[in-house]
Amino acid sequence: VEHAAPTRYRADHVVTGPERGAVHSPGVVDVVDGRVAWSGAAGEAPAWEGEAVDIGGALLPGFVNVHAHTPMVLLRGTGEGLPTDVWLTEVMWPREARLTPDDVRAAMRLGAAEMLLSGITTTCEMYFHGAAIAEGAVAAGLRCLVTAPLIEAPDFAHLGTVAEQIGAIRDLRAAWADHPLVEVGVGPHSAYALSREALVAVRELVDADPMLLHIHVAEQPHEGAGVLEATGLTVPAFLDELGLLTGRTLGAHCVWMTDDDIDRFARRGAAVAHCPVSNGRHASGIARVAAMRDAGIRVGLGTDGPASNDRLDPFEEMRTAIRYARISVLDAAQLDARTAFGMATAEAGLALGRPDLGRLAPGARADMVAVALDRPGLAPGIGGDELLAGLVWSGSPGLVRDVWVEGAQVVRDGGCLTVDVASAAREVHERSLRLSAPPT
Ligand SMILES: [Zn+2]
Repeated sequence: VEHAAPTRYRADHVVTGPERGAVHSPGVVDVVDGRVAWSGAAGEAPAWEGEAVDIGGALLPGFVNVHAHTPMVLLRGTGEGLPTDVWLTEVMWPREARLTPDDVRAAMRLGAAEMLLSGITTTCEMYFHGAAIAEGAVAAGLRCLVTAPLIEAPDFAHLGTVAEQIGAIRDLRAAWADHPLVEVGVGPHSAYALSREALVAVRELVDADPMLLHIHVAEQPHEGAGVLEATGLTVPAFLDELGLLTGRTLGAHCVWMTDDDIDRFARRGAAVAHCPVSNGRHASGIARVAAMRDAGIRVGLGTDGPASNDRLDPFEEMRTAIRYARISVLDAAQLDARTAFGMATAEAGLALGRPDLGRLAPGARADMVAVALDRPGLAPGIGGDELLAGLVWSGSPGLVRDVWVEGAQVVRDGGCLTVDVASAAREVHERSLRLSAPPT
């Protein structure tokens, strides 16, 4: 990868992380070889010989989306108002069974552009055809953790046996090992969609080659019934017994967690992807975010698939997380804006096992978002804590002006530099018409 020349970015406000005291007004970020070399208050910045750019506004770490099935932009808006099991089995699966790698690549490219335009610079994806996901993301310049899928269901027999799917994950991981924007992990769909044998095969895979293990956990109240009947265990306890809860496990949703489940996640160092907008759309429930974070569990925010949300909007995700946390206990002191911002940035990076993401500190990836403060919505852009609260409560994708990933600019003045969005949208439209047509 060719890196841009070393560049100093000056902004009216630089937010280096979610901690108190991390808003520097005015501030500076120095970028060398795709990494942050220095960041902080402009008045304390070291001497600089290279290029310098004044961007005004506020410069933030890019948002990290920890749970997504982005190619579901192909299925967006379908099955509105159906109970989740009917939505899944009668609307999603019949269409998904017909997906080709070309569908996934085209949809990922459009979804990647949408995320970049919304300020998301990293996504953690679980979906079919992992190579096409990586290719679609890289074409847009989006950073992507591809958790290659593993599923056993009659509709998806064409994806191969468990052994074949595991072999394909190993190959995919080897193929992308040196790419700066891509990391490959494993994405077993869920305990209820996989046999014990398949889950044991996953443990053997990650024992031999530690990697991110991304799995749906306790999303709906009844989904653990089969596991409970067969084993007497909740899904988190079952995963723990199989050795699948580790410091690189990411459980998506984790809405229906018992005290013991939370304790197991905390003891093993497993992380959680909290997806409040999706949980609301599907009436899944409200995850116990405060209890999980108090136990020391890393919790990041995820959009889930765009057919379950239906936006890829980190600002709405932060606000919804706060609203659910507060209204569930009628306490306005729950989940403050700073914490929600962290769950969308630095804590999300940690949930993925990636301390180099979600923060503008020396050594971190130069994944950055410039937000306009001279437009209705965020003006007047007061500094310090009030700026952070304003970004969380009033921010929106429309205020995202410029975006960089690995130091390379991918959005300028609200336009995507890497994807021709109009033609990408036309292509996705045509492909989704084909998928929605009744089988002939
Ligand atoms: Zn999901």
